[in-house]
Formats: sequence, structure tokens, C-alpha cells
Amino acid sequence: MLSPNITNIAYLIAAVLFIFGLRGLAHPRTAVNGNRTAALGMILAIAVTLLSGRFEWQYIIIGVAIGGVLGAVAAMRIKMTAMPEMVGLFNGFGGAASVLVAGSALVAAMQHATAAGPDAQMKIATVATGIIGSVTFFGSYVAFGKLAEFLAVRWKLYTWQKIVKYGFSLIVTAGAVWFGVISINEAGVPLAAGLMLSGVLIGGLLLNKKDRFPGMNALKVILGAVAVILGVLVVLNPGNTMLFWVMVGAAGVLGVILTFSIGGADMPVVIALLNSYSGLAAAATGFVINNNVLIVSGSLVGASGIILTNIMCKAMNRSLANVLFGVLGPTGDTPSDDDVYAGKVKAASAEEIAMLFDGARRVAIVPGYGMAAAQAQHAVRDLANLLEQRGIEVDFAIHPVAGRMPGHMNVLLAEANVEYDKLREMDEVNPTLAQTDVAIVIGANDVVNPVARTDPSSPIAGMPIIDVDKARTVVVIKRSLSPGFAGIPNPLFALDNTLMFFNDGKKAVLDIITAVKES
Ligand code: NDP
Repeated sequence: MLSPNITNIAYLIAAVLFIFGLRGLAHPRTAVNGNRTAALGMILAIAVTLLSGRFEWQYIIIGVAIGGVLGAVAAMRIKMTAMPEMVGLFNGFGGAASVLVAGSALVAAMQHATAAGPDAQMKIATVATGIIGSVTFFGSYVAFGKLAEFLAVRWKLYTWQKIVKYGFSLIVTAGAVWFGVISINEAGVPLAAGLMLSGVLIGGLLLNKKDRFPGMNALKVILGAVAVILGVLVVLNPGNTMLFWVMVGAAGVLGVILTFSIGGADMPVVIALLNSYSGLAAAATGFVINNNVLIVSGSLVGASGIILTNIMCKAMNRSLANVLFGVLGPTGDTPSDDDVYAGKVKAASAEEIAMLFDGARRVAIVPGYGMAAAQAQHAVRDLANLLEQRGIEVDFAIHPVAGRMPGHMNVLLAEANVEYDKLREMDEVNPTLAQTDVAIVIGANDVVNPVARTDPSSPIAGMPIIDVDKARTVVVIKRSLSPGFAGIPNPLFALDNTLMFFNDGKKAVLDIITAVKES
């Protein structure tokens, strides 16, 4: 067994590695090494923790084997477009792990309690972990379910979606009812009933096809108050562990309805926020079991998650409160597709688009979610190289929330070896667009929608956008006139200087490359 001093020195080194890792992640060039540095810190922290105590190894080995295999398979098989769902799910596991560690630490502390019982730090940290961790777990499950489109939807589900949706609801409800029934004698009827009720509520709410219902905001406040009151009771009476589980149940219902009402387009912001919560839950668990590296790493996750949330809100010109309690999506005032597009949209062929590059001096490529969906990044790089060979200056204009996660476009373009210097941020590129001959929008929609600038009643009003409409000619590559994530029409597609190329992103770019070569 390692001595506490050695353990703490190793924890300090791990914490320093985490901080250097985060620093590395701040720039694409150093990100891979940053990731490795942080992973090294985590390996050190895990090894030292395992060597510093006596453990029942069989459980640890089983846990590591199951978690390791599931994590590795998920990480290797996941598509880049589904990354937010996976991050959401993993945040949830972090929250659940924290709740289980804090809950079992409470049970263990009460079994071996001295006359004085657990100290105030442990009791308060246990309550904080229970509430934050449970909100994180159930909120993350909802975020995952909404992004994977099996929660709060009215259409027909695939078999796997049905299994996850109904299976999860059933497990939560049956688990809470079973635990309530077996502990009714010891815990008393009110607490057992409270636990069963929270399980039934969570299971039932998760089957709802609408994401809002009357009185939802009032219920959020009531549930928040109930969780805090139960938390105070746990601190006053830690021996009653059933109180802790009822508090976890109430916080779970809160996590479900807090996240359920948030619009799909805001889910990535919510995932960043839940990521921050999972860090806070881990840090609180560190105080429960007196583990310094957990406190440091949890705080780093908590802080970086909230910074990321803030960056994303700013990029959409929305407050966090508006994201959490507002609605993003078409409203009664949103014009219909016919009003915006009828008779005004001009479709072009690859050959017509290739002709635009004759005599062009500047081209800006604006990627969005559709480039990721079509996996068109390599073709886009080839097009950029081809145009540069013909003496055209090519820039990539990157919107901070293009795609489905922060840095989504940067990651894809880096994967295709596009030089980092060619990526221009929105503020840098916007003043140059009026001097740009051709702006090629590939699979982007909301982030180039001029109503954000012109219509104060639009759901995306005030969101900073890439002003492609100011370029001499705009080419928009997408498959149809379908809206983007915000669900609203885009008058850019009907402008005089816009040509639509209706096609899959990759196929369209390959066709343009062929046409340019032949021209
Ligand atoms: P959008 O979701 O607005 O639009 C994507 C477009 O891609 C669609 O209109 C779709 O049109 C097109 N598309 C889909 N598949 C293909 C394909 N295979 N080939 C060609 N086109 C395709 O994407 P943006 O990137 O413009 O905007 C991102 C949205 O996500 C914004 O609303 C933003 O606020 C939101 N969001 C993003 C976050 C982030 O971190 N990145 C965070 C929070 C929110 P069609 O079906 O006709 O092809």
C-alpha cells in the first residue's frame, strides 16, 4: 500500500498533467498531445488510487472490464455527427457514478459510525453529490434521447430506439417501486412512497411525446425546493439513508423536466452545461471520500464546462436562462416556406458553378452540419487546393456553432489536413465577404441565415452569422430546401445573388471538382 504522502504527490502530478492537457487542447496543433497528457494524468491517478487502498479486486476488475469494453467500442464506432449524444451519455455516467459513490460512502459511514457520526463536510458533500449527480444523470439521458430522436417525438421509432426508450423507463420505474416495497418497513410509508412516486414520475415523463406541459416551470421550482429540503433533512439525520435516495429521486425528476423542455437545437449547449455539472458532482464526491485528485479534476471539468457553455451562448447571442427556459424553433410569426421561396429559388448545375470561378480572385468556403453529415471534408479540401492552383485565394469561414458541437468544423477540416491558417473565424471573415467573389456554403443553414440580422421576431434574432449574402455570388450546397436545426426557412436561398446546388454535400463537391477540371 502506498503511503498518503506518496499518494498525494502523485495526485499533484496528475493534477498538473490535467492542467497542461487542457492547455494543449486550446489549440488544434497541440490538441492531440494535450489529450495524451491528460490521459497520462488519469492513468497515474487511477493507478495510485488503486495502490493506496485495500479493495475487493474482483468488483473493480469486473467494473473496469465492462466499462472499458463499452467505452472503447462506443468511442471507436461513433460517427462524428453523433459525438454530442455520446458525450451526453458519458456525462450522465459520470453523474451516476458520483451518486453511487456518495450513497455507498454514506451507508458505509453509518455502518461504522462513531457516536459523533459523519462530519459536516461529508454530509453536505454527500447531499450536493446526490442532487447534482442525479440531475446530471437523468438530464444527460434526456439530452441523449432527444439528440438520438427517441424522446419527445411523435414519429415511428426504430426497434433499438423503442428498446432503449421503453426499457429505460421500465427499469427506473420498476427499480424504484421494488426498492420502495422492500424497504417500506424500515424506512416508513411516506419515504418509501416518495421513492416509488419519483420512479413512476421519471418513467412516465420519459414516455411523453410533447416536451412541454402546463405548469412545468412551477414544477421545476417545487422539485428544486423539495430536493433541497430533503438534502437539509439528510444533513440533520444522515442515519436515515432512505432520505438520501428519495432526495436523489426528486432530483432525478427535476433533471428530466429541466432538460425535457429544452429545444433540440439547444441540446449541445445543455450537454456542455451537464458536462460542467458532472464535474461538480465529481468534485463534491472528492469531498465525500477525501480524495484530492477527484476534487481537482472535478473542478477542472466543472469550470471548463461552464466556460464552454458561455462561449456557445455568446455565439448564439442568447442568455443561458433563455437556453434553459426559452423555446427555440418556428413560432406563429415565422413565415412559411412558400412566402420565402416561391418562384425565387434558382438551381444551378456543377458546370454553371465551375464557370463562376473563371476570373474569381477570392472564394470563401462556409461549412456546416451538412458537410459533417455528408463526410465531404476531404472533397472540400481537394476543391480548395484546385482553386488555389488556379490562383484563387481560398479561405474557410468557420462559425463557432456550425455543426453539432463546438469546434465540429475545425475537427473535420483538421482531419482532412486543411491548414489551420486557412480557417478564419466569423469576426475575421465577415468584413472581407463584400470583396469575395464566390461564397460556397456547404451544408450550413442557420449559421448563414440573414434573418438573424434582419428580423427581430425570428427565433434566431441577434445570433451572429457569417454574412455570405454580402458576397458577389453565393453557392449553397444542400439536398433540398429543408430547414436547419432551428427549423425556420432561410431567405438566403431566395436572394438574387444565390445559386442552389441541390445534392448530397460530398457528391456535389466532387461534381464541381470534375467540372472545374474540365472547364
Ligand atoms: P443547420 O443544422 O442549420 O443546417 C444543416 C443543413 O445541412 C440542413 O439544412 C440540411 O439540409 C443540410 N444537410 C444535411 N445533410 C446533408 C448532406 N448529406 N449533404 C448536404 N447537405 C446536408 O447547420 P449549421 O451548421 O448551419 O448550424 C448549426 C445549428 O446547430 C445552429 O442552429 C446552431 O445554433 C445549432 N447548435 C450548434 C451547436 C454547436 O456547438 N455546433 C451548439 C448549439 C446549437 P438538407 O436536408 O436540405 O440537405
